[in-house]
Amino acid sequence: MKNKTLVLLSFLWSLSVSAQELLILGVAQDAGKPQLGCEKSCCKGDSNRGLVVSMAILEPETKKYILLEATPDITEQLAMVPAEYDRLPYSVYLTHAHIGHYTGLMYFGREAANSHNISLSCGERMADFLVQNGPWSQLFQLNNLRLLPIKPQGNLEQLPKADSGVLIIPFLVPHRDEFSETLGYYISGPNKSLLFIPDIDKWEAWSQDLKELLPAVDYAFIDGTFFDNQELPGRDMSEIPHPFVVESMKRFDHLPANLKDKIYFIHFNHTNPLWNPNSEESKRVQAAGYHIARRGLNFKL
Ligand SMILES: [Zn+2]
Ligand SMILES: [Zn+2]
Ligand SMILES: [Zn+2]
Repeated sequence: MKNKTLVLLSFLWSLSVSAQELLILGVAQDAGKPQLGCEKSCCKGDSNRGLVVSMAILEPETKKYILLEATPDITEQLAMVPAEYDRLPYSVYLTHAHIGHYTGLMYFGREAANSHNISLSCGERMADFLVQNGPWSQLFQLNNLRLLPIKPQGNLEQLPKADSGVLIIPFLVPHRDEFSETLGYYISGPNKSLLFIPDIDKWEAWSQDLKELLPAVDYAFIDGTFFDNQELPGRDMSEIPHPFVVESMKRFDHLPANLKDKIYFIHFNHTNPLWNPNSEESKRVQAAGYHIARRGLNFKL
């Protein structure tokens, strides 16, 4: 009898915890698509704009949301958040100080939204960079943003599920760190969890192995900047500080289908053939059991 009551109680509890939702707001590499100055067929005459990589975590109960990355396309991206939600996020998380990942912060300032006390989470070096350099410093002086530095983990050891709400754990990844460290995020809702690693040098440069983390998550959004070295004629693959999609596929090839099914490539350079859902390359990625992230996709967490 006691056991039955417990089962019933936990069932009712699971009903009362409503799922969070992840909404993909953009999938492009920092410079977007079309890219300034590109006269090749990937950008010339292409009316399909590619917005820079970003995601919103929507909380249906409160109609509030968290923004992951503040991109130069932020104005269009926040307009994608359903109308019943607040117009601005209550919290923003950043991975690093390359142009596609943080420069949208400027639109929270006086010249634009003039927001009040949005919490901004990022690594310590990133926080110093923002506080010590204009125009970003003014966002804190005017309380448009409120800094909430976070301590990233060197290695992800435990990947707990959120009891309710959202749990966000930052971790360090190797990348060109000129102005800041680079973070990846583990994000969990009450039901499902994900990894977000939009920029990383080669997988071998990381102290962790994605293969070992995959069983504990439901989705992994990973660096798919370049499909292969055809996009960079004459350059040695090993010199490019991103894992090519073909390299990642080779690396994860032996994994069982249920693990490959969790992988979504994201952060596409304008030259990447994965922009075209009908390209041979897109078909190849999907036939191998992986996914291609697209703007507007929505996941329950
Ligand atoms: Zn990037
Ligand atoms: Zn182009
Ligand atoms: Zn970067």
